[in-house]
Amino acid sequence: MDSDMLFWLSFYGAFFIASGVVGALKGRLIAGILLGYVLGPIGLVVMLLSKDQRMIPCPHCSQKTHHHSYHCQHCNEKVYGYLHS
Ligand SMILES: [Zn+2]
Repeated sequence: MDSDMLFWLSFYGAFFIASGVVGALKGRLIAGILLGYVLGPIGLVVMLLSKDQRMIPCPHCSQKTHHHSYHCQHCNEKVYGYLHS
C-alpha cells in the first residue's frame, strides 16, 4: 500500500468523521456527512459555520433555545407555538 495514499485516506477520513460529528451535533447529520465526504476539510469548516438547526432564538428573550422544547430554558415563556409556526 502506498503510504502517501494511506496518509490522504486517513486525512480525509478524519475530516469526514469530524464533519459528520459536527453535523450530528447540529441536527444535520446527513449534510455533515455529505459535506465532509465531498469537500473534506472545507466541508468541516462549512459545517462548523453553518447554523445550528436545533437551537433557535426564543421569541421572548432572544436566547438560544432547543427547537423541541415547549418552554424556553431562559425565560420559561411558552415557545412551542412560535417556533413551529
Ligand atoms: Zn426565552
